Amino acid sequence: MNTHTFQREIPIESSYDVVVAGGGPAGVAAAIAAARCGARTLLVEATGALGGMGTNGLVANWYCLSDGLQILTRGLFWEIVRALRDAGGLKEGGLDPDTRTPSLRFGLGFSAETLKRVLDKLVLDAGVDLLLCTRLIDADVDQPSKRVRGVVIQHVEGLRYVPARSFIDATGDAVLADLCGVRYREAGRDTPNIMPPTLCATVANVDWIFSYDDQQDAIKRGVQAGEFSQPDRHVPGIFHSQGSHGIQNAGHLFRMNAVNVRSLTEGYVTAASWRGSTRASSKSTCRAVKSLNSSPRLR
Ligand SMILES: Cc1cc2nc3c(=O)[nH]c(=O)nc-3n(C[C@H](O)[C@H](O)[C@H](O)COP(=O)(O)OP(=O)(O)OC[C@H]3O[C@@H](n4cnc5c(N)ncnc54)[C@H](O)[C@@H]3O)c2cc1C
Repeated sequence: MNTHTFQREIPIESSYDVVVAGGGPAGVAAAIAAARCGARTLLVEATGALGGMGTNGLVANWYCLSDGLQILTRGLFWEIVRALRDAGGLKEGGLDPDTRTPSLRFGLGFSAETLKRVLDKLVLDAGVDLLLCTRLIDADVDQPSKRVRGVVIQHVEGLRYVPARSFIDATGDAVLADLCGVRYREAGRDTPNIMPPTLCATVANVDWIFSYDDQQDAIKRGVQAGEFSQPDRHVPGIFHSQGSHGIQNAGHLFRMNAVNVRSLTEGYVTAASWRGSTRASSKSTCRAVKSLNSSPRLR
């Protein structure tokens, strides 16, 4: 590929102790923890909402919070779960760790929209300097010491250089590690297979008389009848999120590479075109189900 040298003079932001790239579950937790320890912390998130796959990807269900006997997670995550419960963002029935422990093994549905607000508040209350709609696009690495001196971020006002003492890559795609030349393993390149992503969607008016097992039986029958272009036995189906609403997690994109922009684009186009057909098949399972929005991000 031909190359073009790109040089610009850009404004320098004030310095931070910690810069966290990516406002998903990992980045939010890292930023809150750093700020609560007294570090001057900047959190940059490429989209308009915190929560990563849990909000923008509509993966609105936490799995395996319990092994059936006891809760497996506590700390900051549990604080988020409690705040979400208090904001009315958990699936009906509330959350009682003492009585609901066994069922938490199978997942806890939540409102992705409420989680956005809860995370905003926790992050801002902790004193984190938050920049949404801001993407980390470059790293300034001192090669002899292999230390990152600063990063370049891009937002609606242009490019900015941000110096800091430490940096945390919570982009989910190892963006900062890649920019720094750090060695890492890439799914599909360094592994024989790549996990297929899905474009999740919200659905309303679901009649929850059908069960997860019924859905899986319908999938088995569909595979046997040759209704799938790819025999996809791992179709989670529709999860109950809140009230008559559910999250539709169906339509895996096989052989898609989420770190290749052309493959990514093709994936979004294909998944959006599938929404029409999955809507039709949902209708036969649930009375009057309505398809709402698909998520802004593949998961
Ligand atoms: C196919 C699949 C299915 C899954 N199913 C489930 C499930 O059903 N239930 C469950 O609990 N978990 C599930 N998970 C796991 C869950 O999604 C992840 O564990 C979780 O999202 C990881 O959080 P994260 O913060 O590391 O990354 P992410 O949630 O991916 O967050 C990364 C964040 O970084 C931002 N970002 C990316 N690049 C930049 C950049 N350059 N600058 C600034 N910001 C950037 C993104 O916008 C995003 O907000 C699944 C994961 C996969 C891959």
